[in-house]
Amino acid sequence: MQVTKNYAAYSYWLESCGDDLAPRPALDGSVHVDIAILGAGYSGLWTAYYLLKRNPSLKIAIAEKEIAGFGASGRNGGWCSAGFPLGLGELGRRYGSSAARDLQLAMIDAVDEVGLVAEDEGIDAEYEKGGALRFARGKHQVPLIERSLETYRAFGLDEHYQLLDAGEANRRVNVQGSLGAIFTPHCATIHPGKLARGLARVVERLGGTIYERTPVTSYSEGSSPALHTPSGDIRAKTIVLAGESYLSQLKQLDRQLIPIYSLIVLTRPLTDEQWNEIGWTGRECVSSNRLTVDYLSRTTDGRILFGGRGAPYHFGSGISDDYDRHGPTHRVLRDAAMEWFPSLSQSDFSHAWGGPLGVPRDWMPTMSYNPVSEVATARGYTGQGVSTANLAGRVLADLITGVASPLTSLPPAGHQSPNWEPEPLRYLGVRYVQRSYANLDEKASASGKPPSGTSLGERLSRH
Ligand SMILES: Cc1cc2nc3c(=O)[nH]c(=O)nc-3n(C[C@H](O)[C@H](O)[C@H](O)COP(=O)(O)OP(=O)(O)OC[C@H]3O[C@@H](n4cnc5c(N)ncnc54)[C@H](O)[C@@H]3O)c2cc1C
Repeated sequence: MQVTKNYAAYSYWLESCGDDLAPRPALDGSVHVDIAILGAGYSGLWTAYYLLKRNPSLKIAIAEKEIAGFGASGRNGGWCSAGFPLGLGELGRRYGSSAARDLQLAMIDAVDEVGLVAEDEGIDAEYEKGGALRFARGKHQVPLIERSLETYRAFGLDEHYQLLDAGEANRRVNVQGSLGAIFTPHCATIHPGKLARGLARVVERLGGTIYERTPVTSYSEGSSPALHTPSGDIRAKTIVLAGESYLSQLKQLDRQLIPIYSLIVLTRPLTDEQWNEIGWTGRECVSSNRLTVDYLSRTTDGRILFGGRGAPYHFGSGISDDYDRHGPTHRVLRDAAMEWFPSLSQSDFSHAWGGPLGVPRDWMPTMSYNPVSEVATARGYTGQGVSTANLAGRVLADLITGVASPLTSLPPAGHQSPNWEPEPLRYLGVRYVQRSYANLDEKASASGKPPSGTSLGERLSRH
């Protein structure tokens, strides 16, 4: 008999999502459907949702290794943002300014689309569109926010972004060491667990089937597409690979993505006195400009979430429950939160967790469907997957049903990333870049100058 994991222990979001997380029945014998999807995170669920909305008679089955929302979708920082893994400047260099602009506008739409569908379908995802503030913490970060605005201006998108001086920024959120911020209204906070679990129920209501505790071990493509599991095959006209970082564990895709762990600490609900000092009544998502990435949000129940990268990559693209918690990285995050908000103390922290996100070699997400192999996939969001997975669901629905839409000509549609290097080169390179990012952040804050962009670490990670 399979032992049920304590799924609530994987994140505060799963713990507080309001359902008992009891697994749905697993696949028991082979079945035949129209569309078979690997993974019940946002990518798989949004794809199923839009396909079923378009054609309610489609037979769709999702094979989920654990439970819906077990992966990054049930663990993330709650930012539903218009940010994309590649910056606008880099998108412009690769795909031209018009395609880059279209993609940015599609991301802005995706933020609203998540909120609209949640409302229409009765998903209480605690969606609140308070915008996002990227702070310049220290002199070295000021040129970075100024440069960002220049880039938006060059693409004719500056009406969506606004520079705030230190006073204006701190009146919104009182951040120690802030010298200003760049603000955009195009970002919402969500309760990730409620969104994933609610979306799964909507997909079932529309006629989809979710088999939980059903791991896909391999897949077939071409004339007889199927997802293979220990308890049977799901044969289909088309298969959709929507397991993000976890796809790196399938032999057929093991160099397409690397799993990088993002970790989070969370406070208890703060006192009124602490909130009076911090402000943050607008529920903005908050970050700064560190290479090692920091992301913060204020929860509906009055807690501060502080997340960041920096946990080590594991040899051979390892993923394990043991890696969700990494003492030294969680300590750094708690210390950083107390530095941002001096009214916090160690005893304010109640939760710590983490999870893997998928990084492709060129940092460019893929949303593709090949009518010859009958394989569709959406992956590679590099930690920016909440709204991007919604966009991916709509792109895949259009591609699979043969609808040529403005979305199907966006740069991620049909994109193919190159493979990562084989081990041990991959391990050595990724760990070197991770270490040099941490060093560059420290050096920049000590010297007051932003990283030059020319160090070996930055050049190695140029994508
Ligand atoms: C700690 C953390 C913080 C983040 N913060 C943010 C944020 O604030 N904003 C943002 O935009 N993005 C954020 N991200 C990224 C975002 O959460 C992901 O990009 C997004 O949730 C990916 O959704 P997905 O459905 O593609 O993948 P996942 O949610 O990872 O879902 C994949 C699913 O596939 C299942 N699975 C795996 N292997 C198999 C198999 N062999 N067979 C069957 N099923 C399988 C897994 O159990 C899982 O449920 C964060 C990620 C992490 C880890």
